[in-house]
Amino acid sequence: MFETLKAQPADKILALMQMYREDPRDTKIDLGVGVYKDATGLTPIMRAVKAAEQQIWEAQDTKVYTGLAGDPAFGDAMISLVLADAVPRENVAAVATPGGTGAVRQAFEMIRMARPDARVFVSDPTWPNHLSILKYLGMEMVPYRYFDDETRGVDFDGMMADLKGARAGDVVLLHGCCHNPTGANLNTAEWDAVIEVLLQTGATPMIDIAYQGFGDGLDADAAATRKLVAAVPECLIAASCSKNFGIYRERTGLLMAIAADASARGLNQATLAFLNRQNYSFPPDHGARIVTTILNDDALRGDWMTELEEVRNAMLGLREQLASELQRLSGSDRFSFLAQHRGMFSRLGTSPDKVEALREKHGIYMVGDSRMNIAGLNAQTVPILAAAILDVGV
Ligand code: PLP
Repeated sequence: MFETLKAQPADKILALMQMYREDPRDTKIDLGVGVYKDATGLTPIMRAVKAAEQQIWEAQDTKVYTGLAGDPAFGDAMISLVLADAVPRENVAAVATPGGTGAVRQAFEMIRMARPDARVFVSDPTWPNHLSILKYLGMEMVPYRYFDDETRGVDFDGMMADLKGARAGDVVLLHGCCHNPTGANLNTAEWDAVIEVLLQTGATPMIDIAYQGFGDGLDADAAATRKLVAAVPECLIAASCSKNFGIYRERTGLLMAIAADASARGLNQATLAFLNRQNYSFPPDHGARIVTTILNDDALRGDWMTELEEVRNAMLGLREQLASELQRLSGSDRFSFLAQHRGMFSRLGTSPDKVEALREKHGIYMVGDSRMNIAGLNAQTVPILAAAILDVGV
């Protein structure tokens, strides 16, 4: 039977990682894969994560299954981290999922169950996994304009014009903060206008929030999500703990379905549990338990917030350094967008042949659409990247 299988498209980022590994140059710089790295190139285990793991190891006396929704304490802790008190808790159904990707996948499946003909509006560009999962599920996608190639900011007029084409029964997928792959984000007034369009059209928002704490801070990064959920009747939120807790391989995420009132919550909760059952039954627990332990312990939570702040400030520092180095070398402000972008990524906004030249000539690896992982840099490599960017004529 397997002879009927067709080769599936290769993951471009994983292919890039392979090329990087095979490059013998010791000056090479990896700005490809989306994981946080410190100045030494390590993706560290956060102190609070280690401490929580130790507590769990000492206290845990069974590995019996959790519930289909995961441990309810994880849901509660994450709902308050993401939403604070933006909506009544009794309106929120939630399930633990394998990573943010699991939450995204389950959200799309729930949409398809509720509205088989829903169109999902996606930013152009968006995280490629959004597109490939939607395609795999056979769901209709409508791209909306997002990135302005000139300013390297948000093409807000284009975005608004495209979102006005949504209607009730459609879904508008938004990045809660730290847009991947561009790094360009909406400001407060622009979020307000998006909320207005959602209310006018009746389309349902879905928020993917995978980098809370990587942009302007834990609360600032969730502010738009909180405002939006308070304003619209229904919403889906896919949250990932991979980046802000640095627990990538533990596969830890939460999907929230927010209903207009508490009476709809039961059906939403049962649907989410059903979807977990169909796809993988019980969600992974270890990462979720780490997160719950940290968030519910004042000392661990405080230490985690301090370390997350260091991570965030390190990326902001690299952004500032790169923008000012490019300003110094080029004598122009045309790279100032790098300091304005937020999160782990910035789209340089250059052509694939220049991305290739950066790789071939300088051993600098970034994704073909010119997405750079800022965390792949350090104080020594920033000037090398800045010189290379100008050398290839970006
Ligand atoms: N959503 C976006 C936009 C992402 O960039 C990522 C990770 O790269 C995720 C969701 C989910 O990540 P994970 O499944 O590793 O939690």
